[in-house]
Amino acid sequence: MIRQFELLERVKAYDPKVDEDALNRAYVFSVKAHGTQKRASGDPYFSHPVEVAGILTRYKLDAATIVTALLHDTVEDTVATLDEIEAGFGADIARLVDGVTKLSRIELQSDHSKQAENFRKLVLAMSEDIRVLLVKLADRLHNMRTLSAIENVDKRRRIALETMEIYAPLAERIGMQDFKDELEDRAFAELNPDGRESIVNRLDYLRQQGGEIVPRIIAELDGLMRKEGVTTVISGREKSPYSIWRKMQRNNVEFEQLSDIMAFRVVVQSVADCYRVLGVIHSRYAVVPGRFKDYISTPKPNGYRSLHTGIIGPERQRIEIQVRTEEMHQIAELGVAAHWKYAQGADRIDGRQYRWLRELLDILEHASSPEEFLEHTKLEMFHDQVFCFTPKGDIITLPRGATAVDFAYAVHSEVGDTCVGSKINGRLMPLRTQLKNGDQVEVLVSRNGTPSPEWERFVVSGKARARIRRYVRSQKHKEYADLGRAILHKAFRQEGYEFTEKAVSTVLEKYKYRSNDDVYAAVGEGILTGRDVVHAIFPGTRKPARDRKILPFRRSRAKSVPTKAEAVPITGLSAGIAIHFAGCCHPLPGDRIVGIITTGKGVTIHTIDCETLQGFADAPERWLDVAWSSGAEDEGYVGRVSVLVANEPGSLGGLSTVIGKSHGNISNLKITNRSTDFFEMLIDVEVRDAKHLTDIIAALRASSFVNSVERARG
Ligand code: MN
Repeated sequence: MIRQFELLERVKAYDPKVDEDALNRAYVFSVKAHGTQKRASGDPYFSHPVEVAGILTRYKLDAATIVTALLHDTVEDTVATLDEIEAGFGADIARLVDGVTKLSRIELQSDHSKQAENFRKLVLAMSEDIRVLLVKLADRLHNMRTLSAIENVDKRRRIALETMEIYAPLAERIGMQDFKDELEDRAFAELNPDGRESIVNRLDYLRQQGGEIVPRIIAELDGLMRKEGVTTVISGREKSPYSIWRKMQRNNVEFEQLSDIMAFRVVVQSVADCYRVLGVIHSRYAVVPGRFKDYISTPKPNGYRSLHTGIIGPERQRIEIQVRTEEMHQIAELGVAAHWKYAQGADRIDGRQYRWLRELLDILEHASSPEEFLEHTKLEMFHDQVFCFTPKGDIITLPRGATAVDFAYAVHSEVGDTCVGSKINGRLMPLRTQLKNGDQVEVLVSRNGTPSPEWERFVVSGKARARIRRYVRSQKHKEYADLGRAILHKAFRQEGYEFTEKAVSTVLEKYKYRSNDDVYAAVGEGILTGRDVVHAIFPGTRKPARDRKILPFRRSRAKSVPTKAEAVPITGLSAGIAIHFAGCCHPLPGDRIVGIITTGKGVTIHTIDCETLQGFADAPERWLDVAWSSGAEDEGYVGRVSVLVANEPGSLGGLSTVIGKSHGNISNLKITNRSTDFFEMLIDVEVRDAKHLTDIIAALRASSFVNSVERARG
């Protein structure tokens, strides 16, 4: 294990001005926090964060990253809190540690390969600051190095698979080739030990046959370059067993000699030298056709640049050669970590080809100091997306700003249509709640659930919006049709005819509707009146409209409303599209009610004694007989009362207590007048029916602080 002073020396070697105190305190904090915890290997736990920090010093990362590495498991695995870290090390470190902690909490719960890419995006998006990801990758690398200590085979496999599918590609994505190679190879050893062993054995055999071939080839290439007067550093190395394995699988080839799996690297001082060296090599050795690639003029998406070529080289061996500048080499090996080196001002910055880092580099170029650069390097790559989980661990990708309803529709249209609630990270939350990266969302559905037109105001995904619109449209049509059919029944009767579907179908052509339902919907919506339709069906038989006298101001009778055959049945559930309860009189089950048809809006239900009805006395054709259907009182209604209470301490509290004791729930309260003596207010109360409201009114009247109370009408 790296000791405290060693770690400090390593950082000081590349950053002499480092805050030694912070590093020392972080080391001690971590040792103390992890205390006597042990790893699966039996080593003290704190050896792990120290090794992770050690890995990162190889990449010459800034002190904040090293401190974060030391602290990275303290919040998740010990009693230490984020507040303590902020108090001891500042907000910046606390934010980084929090980021790593959050990344550690999410894991791919099911091994669906198709989800791996989404998961990688999630990890990147959650990283925000690239240093969070660097610490996480180093953490994973050390865990892979010590994987064999874990006894549970399934757990080892899961970690290895996750490494292969998520973390190795992530390391490649940010250009950290070393990390990628080692992560992959260690995962390969766990997932396919036999396959890896066969490659390793083959390499050993070839090495025995060929002897020290690598140094000889390097020596010959080196001599050639000297003669040409180009300054180069040449190295050679075997590819990793996993990359050989994959190459063999992909290209369906065997490897016959060691050079097939060797890459020689010529590092030069300028781009011009790259092409010069290439010319020298191509004119000296035979070129293997189809192996030349110019990644300098066309860099790989992760920013990799190099010239690649294959030749029949010294000793008649087929070898691969990569030619690149020192800076290209740094970026190829260290990826994003290389930019810190350049950010320190040690070298010029030329990362333009590093496509996905372009935004970071823009900031870098315009930032006046490395500190400012770090301050602004938030990854904005997936800013337009948010990644959430189902309870089973499946990932759902949604546009940013998406809500639980969007999530439900993304899972399945059916789930969206019938959702009634949601649990986000285990807590009941409103359906309109905007989701955050990593949220686990459980959708609560009900067999009777239907989409609400309200949802359209807050959903952001196209699928959800389209489904809701479609539902509302079809629902509207259905409700208007139901209503229209009832209206027509009544109109037929009033005109002295018997209602038949067949009769209605005779006017389809005249009105240019395709089905009877369309006619009903038009009537329900108020586009046609019932009498229009009847007279269209029976032309020439128009009778004078019955001179009905409308008497809206009768007090409702005590006995319940007679359910006439022609009355349209109403329940609380009817309310919404075709049927509305009037805001003036708040009808309740038990009240005598009447409907008023309004073109394009359907029917508004009023109590028979509502003053608003006066305005419709001259339009009998707009009146519609309606009646409460049985069981209507189970749906929940809002009644309104106007109350005058004494302006004294406790009267408002007493008021709500009385209503509560009577099982009424106050849904709205508005003070309409306030004097020194009295409050005058309107209270909306959720009740079962008219009688329930009457009971509440009686209870209020019995209270000493209530001066007067009336049901509000009109
Ligand atoms: Mn860790």
